[in-house]
Amino acid sequence: MFKIIILIFTVSIYAQAELWLSYDGVNFEPTTEESLGKRAVKSHNTNTYCGGFIVMERPEHFLNKSLDQFFNLQNYTINREAVVKDALSRVQERRLYKFIEKFSSYKTRYYKSSDGVRAAKDLAKNWSEITSTRSDINVSLYKHRKWPQDSVVLEIKGRTNQNIIIGGHLDSINTNDEGVHSHAPGADDNASGISVLTETLRVLVESNYQPKNNIIFIAYAAEEVGLRGSLEIAQKYAKENKLIKGVLQIDGTNYNGSSKKIVLINDHTNSKQNKFLGNLIDRYVNVSWAYDTCGYACSDHYAWTYNGFIASFPAEAYVKEENPFIHTENDTVEVMNNRANHAVYFTKLSLAYLIELDK
Ligand SMILES: [Zn+2]
Repeated sequence: MFKIIILIFTVSIYAQAELWLSYDGVNFEPTTEESLGKRAVKSHNTNTYCGGFIVMERPEHFLNKSLDQFFNLQNYTINREAVVKDALSRVQERRLYKFIEKFSSYKTRYYKSSDGVRAAKDLAKNWSEITSTRSDINVSLYKHRKWPQDSVVLEIKGRTNQNIIIGGHLDSINTNDEGVHSHAPGADDNASGISVLTETLRVLVESNYQPKNNIIFIAYAAEEVGLRGSLEIAQKYAKENKLIKGVLQIDGTNYNGSSKKIVLINDHTNSKQNKFLGNLIDRYVNVSWAYDTCGYACSDHYAWTYNGFIASFPAEAYVKEENPFIHTENDTVEVMNNRANHAVYFTKLSLAYLIELDK
């Protein structure tokens, strides 16, 4: 109720605003494209994780649906061990590393840069090549009206009208010198997440996995400037009343900064699905894990939660021990010591999640 009052009040005062910005997901203030760069720097300097604020058009149109419609879609039992273990045995650390190396070799993947535009198109091509033998898999570029970088959407068609989503952002940013001109390799943030998505996809294809439900992979544009790609897509899916069993966010996977290998973010996420992920880690990934709180809209999972979907975000470290190089020119593959072992954990978790939820 409080949220609705705030939205109506805000909207009535600033009905003409071009864009709306919120640091907490509740209170919105008007903003413009031009002023966003300054706000990004302000936010990134106070928060180490991605995003830190959200930007959207017309927040009054956002749906905040009850989760009731999804309750009967859940089956968090773990009973597909043979299929999962076969998939996990195919995960290749070298492939994960090589992908990170390549995807962080653009000067930047900033959402307005020509390199950032190219990176999205190259990724769509890469995913198309990986899945070229499968007529049930479709890859498309999702065009955004307000900026040139596309999101990439891949769908493996199942036999039901229900969907499982795994996603991560493809853009990068250098908050010390934001813009199209600066160097923003984004190796950990988030070439490492897109690498996990790509290796997960490759393994599903190699093992000829035919899902029961539709499995959708999304590489979001423009996360670093206010979750803009994911907010647009999640809102579209909400308006279409898409049935979504769950959403998994993969953002930052190859930095081993904490005593726990995987940290499940417990705010703006779904506690039941988080528990399911914890059980999957114990059963299949066999690494230590813990919960932690971001305290703000720290990645694209927020876009799904805000639109009434079930979402989770397994992070690579405790929030206070996050990779100190992200959002700088030093988020490079060089600091990874030629290894992608940490990203392997996230690939295994992704495969276990998709297969065990696909019932
Ligand atoms: Zn990120």
